[in-house]
Amino acid sequence: MDLGIKGKRALVCASSKGLGLGCARSLAEAGVDLVMNARGRDALEVSAAAIRSEFGVNVVTVAADITSDDGRAQVLEAAKDVDILVTNAGGPPPGLWSDWEREDFIAALDANMLTPIALMKALLPGMMDRGWGRVVNITSQSVKAPIAVLGLSNSARAGLTGYVAGTARQVAGSGVTINNLLPGIHATDRAVALDTGVTQAQGISMEDAKAQRCAGIPAGRYGTADEFGAACAFLCSQHAGFIVGQNLLLDGGGVNATM
Ligand code: NAP
Repeated sequence: MDLGIKGKRALVCASSKGLGLGCARSLAEAGVDLVMNARGRDALEVSAAAIRSEFGVNVVTVAADITSDDGRAQVLEAAKDVDILVTNAGGPPPGLWSDWEREDFIAALDANMLTPIALMKALLPGMMDRGWGRVVNITSQSVKAPIAVLGLSNSARAGLTGYVAGTARQVAGSGVTINNLLPGIHATDRAVALDTGVTQAQGISMEDAKAQRCAGIPAGRYGTADEFGAACAFLCSQHAGFIVGQNLLLDGGGVNATM
């Protein structure tokens, strides 16, 4: 399918690896020029070079922490007039409900709620002036079904979801859509880190930890970054202009709910 976005420009945050990289690759495949971001320069340059050579699009890289004011300013300087924004950052650490202090919540809110909001505030006006734009926020299945050990994520992402629900409906009339993609378990470094936590907590092997998690996923496997990226590219396409303020689960059926 021609997504109809060849020649558009996108900022994909936190995109040297994992789900962000999947989104960057799928957008590049559709002919979109990219601004890619991550903190570590080496992996970012490797991923950007691979995308340039495979898809022939322009890629600008900004090595910076997207959750810091300074990092965001550097990224926005390179991405002033983008048509597409994909927000993303690392997820908060796991723990117990009784572990977290105010500072832990502030850090999670900064990274996973206030950072995407700041990016939208900066880039939505330009998209609205030009009469076309797409925003996709990478959130989590924890928005639909809480994950006990990820209380910081449950909290921060719920806040972002509320903001998007209201904001998406205020900008849709200008040709700009905002939607959230909710990953269930995907085979990325984040999943390895969380599985490692399970091996330590339960004294089981990595294989057993993965098998235990797969048992709760009707598809019987982890998702891939390519599948995730393809869904993101579709939400950014010309065909998705009537999809507004939605929360799309990509979880292999893991969340057991009718809607
Ligand atoms: P990942 O494989 O660990 O990749 C994270 C990417 O983000 C890397 O490129 C990393 O590069 C970059 N990054 C992290 N923190 C950053 C920051 N502060 N500023 C700029 N770049 C940053 O993670 P993932 O699995 O793709 O997950 C992406 C998001 O989806 C996370 O918020 C995660 O919690 C959420 N999620 C993932 C899953 C899953 O199963 N994978 C499930 C639910 C939700 P640097 O480290 O070099 O910065």
